[in-house]
Amino acid sequence: MAAKGRKLQAEKLGEYARKRDFEATPEPSARQGAGQKGPPRFVVQEHSARRLHWDLRLERDGVAASWAIPNGIPADPSENRKAVHTEDHPLEYLDFEGDIPAGEYGAGTMRIWDRGTYECHKWEPGKVVFSFAGERLSGRYALFRAGDSAKDWMIHRVDPPATQRDPFPEAVVPMLARLAPLPAKDEGWGVEVKWDGVRAIAYCRPGRLQLQTRNLNDVTAQYPEVRRLSRQLGARDAVLDGELVAFDDEGRPSFARLQQRIHQTSESVVRRRMQSHPVTYVIFDLLYLDGRDLTGEPYRRRRQELEALALDGLSWQTPGYADGHAKELLAASAEQGLEGIVLKRLDSSYAPGKRNGTWLKVKNIGRQEFVIGGWQPGEGRRRGGLGSLLLGYFDREGEGAELRYAGKVGTGFSDRALDELIERLRPLARKSNPFAGRRGPRTANFVEPQLVAEIEFRELTAEGQVRHGSFKGLREDKPAREVVLER
Ligand code: MN
Repeated sequence: MAAKGRKLQAEKLGEYARKRDFEATPEPSARQGAGQKGPPRFVVQEHSARRLHWDLRLERDGVAASWAIPNGIPADPSENRKAVHTEDHPLEYLDFEGDIPAGEYGAGTMRIWDRGTYECHKWEPGKVVFSFAGERLSGRYALFRAGDSAKDWMIHRVDPPATQRDPFPEAVVPMLARLAPLPAKDEGWGVEVKWDGVRAIAYCRPGRLQLQTRNLNDVTAQYPEVRRLSRQLGARDAVLDGELVAFDDEGRPSFARLQQRIHQTSESVVRRRMQSHPVTYVIFDLLYLDGRDLTGEPYRRRRQELEALALDGLSWQTPGYADGHAKELLAASAEQGLEGIVLKRLDSSYAPGKRNGTWLKVKNIGRQEFVIGGWQPGEGRRRGGLGSLLLGYFDREGEGAELRYAGKVGTGFSDRALDELIERLRPLARKSNPFAGRRGPRTANFVEPQLVAEIEFRELTAEGQVRHGSFKGLREDKPAREVVLER
């Protein structure tokens, strides 16, 4: 190569050299390289720096002409994407991968995303037209200046892609689950935990992520910790369905904790609450991936593709689902204090905004028998009659068992049941409190512990206290002596 040519390249790489300390960075030094025979080479590097972006470099005149593309190479001619013209890089950079240390220019990780050769159709000041021949990339592209600064360029795909791409969805109303009892057979159902949080669809495109709620409100700014998910997806286009959840100290979803994050729009408050009340985006469905609309695919298939993405990070996760085993999972979820389970037909497609019965939610309502140990009179309309029942259970079966107090239930009575209960309880009246240990209210109409009531409840506390209980009826088929606590 002529001396004059070498000098020209050294000048071209002057800015590259000035920006870097080659004692500190593993990047190649500003040495010019000799061009190879054959078609010119290109590289696209995924650069996870302060912001994720893609660096496109085209071999030209002994250097690598470079553009930083914040949202990646567009796959579709419908879109112009920003491309920032950056300093020429040495040809050795076409093979560079590595970690640029913190504090250095471009600190972060540089990985080769695609490479190959390109065919140059036009190279003019402010306009480059070329065709990629890479492993991922193909097709004809134009880079052109657009904007005031010499750095402001755009990149545009000129020819349509070989395979038809479905348009990227913009406003998906999430599919809904119908409240139902456990189906008699759980074959053909996928079973998941019911997450008690805020439903959100995530629209992920290279270098950006948007979160939308059921009402199509944009809540991206309210949950900044979820944004980094877009780095894990890299250059992929994906639309995800999931739930924003705040976990309590025991790792249970806490809607109360999440309240601290809902409706917060001030950036400084969001930043603080992000530390004190972090959220996790729990992902359970994949609706679109890399040009393919997946909503028509069966749930099982969508989950396979979702799991292959392996989306797991500090602020997002993809818990699996069970194939059947609904009854066991419902019981386990109740034990863990979770709201319930969701069943999804494994062969069902995704119906945005619909509650068509291919998704079911089964909530944890506990149900079991308790012994009636007394009652308290009612107020208002029920004055003079029965207000609430005092519930109990025996600490064990057999002789010498003690009756434990389990709380009160004051709802669920029909007028007829109220009358019948009073009639049944009166003859059982006794002066003393039948409960041992925790004895319940001091004043009540205590009774001999003989009647058994079926009670539905939202919660049975660790201390064996019924919360939000509702009377379902008297049970005649079970002796009171056999009523112990079931978990
Ligand atoms: Mn870069």
